[in-house]
Amino acid sequence: MQNSLSCIVSKSEIGDILNNVLEGERLNLHNCKELLKSDDVYTIGLVANTLRKTLFGNTATFINNIILNYTNVCVTYCKFCAFYRPPGHTESYTHNIKDILKRITLSKEMFGITQILFQGGHNPNLSIEYYEEIFKEIKKFYPSIAIHGLSASEIDMISKVERSSTKEILSRLQDAGLNSLPGAGAEILDDKVKSVISPLKIKSNQWLNIMKEAHELGIKSSATMMYGTVETDDDIAQHIIKISDLQEKTNGFIAFIPWGFEPNKTQMQTEGIAKYSSGGLRLLKMIAISRIMFYGLISHIQSSWLTNGIGMAQLALYFGADDFGGTLIGEEVVSATGARSTELTSTNIIESIKQAGFSAAERDNFYNIIKNF
Ligand code: SF4
Repeated sequence: MQNSLSCIVSKSEIGDILNNVLEGERLNLHNCKELLKSDDVYTIGLVANTLRKTLFGNTATFINNIILNYTNVCVTYCKFCAFYRPPGHTESYTHNIKDILKRITLSKEMFGITQILFQGGHNPNLSIEYYEEIFKEIKKFYPSIAIHGLSASEIDMISKVERSSTKEILSRLQDAGLNSLPGAGAEILDDKVKSVISPLKIKSNQWLNIMKEAHELGIKSSATMMYGTVETDDDIAQHIIKISDLQEKTNGFIAFIPWGFEPNKTQMQTEGIAKYSSGGLRLLKMIAISRIMFYGLISHIQSSWLTNGIGMAQLALYFGADDFGGTLIGEEVVSATGARSTELTSTNIIESIKQAGFSAAERDNFYNIIKNF
């Protein structure tokens, strides 16, 4: 098998780069650009799958999770977002503690969730006490449920409301029960891309700095990449390298999640900036390149069924992904695009992983396996 792999790799135009990663060498920006330029997705995927197998054998993981999109009020107006509503809009909402605890209780009783993914808009009316009170109440009633919450840009918003530093905000939230940070808000870490798709959001260096601060406080996080808007392949390569560079310093990223932009019902679609999603082949290439570029740096690559659908998530397992993401009951951000159903129970996920020929395992928010199926 290894011989047939070597034979296929040696015939590829990017064979040297792929051989280097198979021999354990860390790849650089130029290598990443070459991989992105190549059409040989099959060989890139084959190598990524080999690296995944080396790390995780035949096991693919998932987490039993609820998404709590606590508010859709947002003053950042990202052009790629179909979820937010401006303050005062008739469809705007903000959940109170009572609503939130009710949802958690139900999800715990019905599905045995172990994590809450807590994310929402940039709501200028919410002080840090709102978050502290919610986190403390969650931990009081459900100490074993992890809070994976608040993207770097939400942390920045709270710091503006409080006129405080982002490090102080992170520290207070950690004391209140925050366990880990989702990687959202990175999109593409390039300010000219951000100036088109999310001009009011934090800039690349701010995202990286908040992640660095979180890691220094001992708060692990994931990192994401939203591709398929106006970025170039070079921007994608820079994004990957910026995350690799920070990871070399902090070792705080536990997972990387690349996902394709869904333009439906967004301002970017209305303005004709991005009409279509970039599709399945592009996803597989991004997953495979992520596995290859982060090999030895970030262990987990998520296939994210939420934005790409179950079938693509199954295929992604053969292109380097080792994690299926969460059950994501109650998600409201992606569902606002109307793209597809965003509810999936653990039974469905286990079935999908097994269908794809893998052993399914439930993990916690730090990717420790808690149950094999
Ligand atoms: S992506 Fe987040 S920050 Fe941007 S408009 Fe949507 S809710 Fe607001």
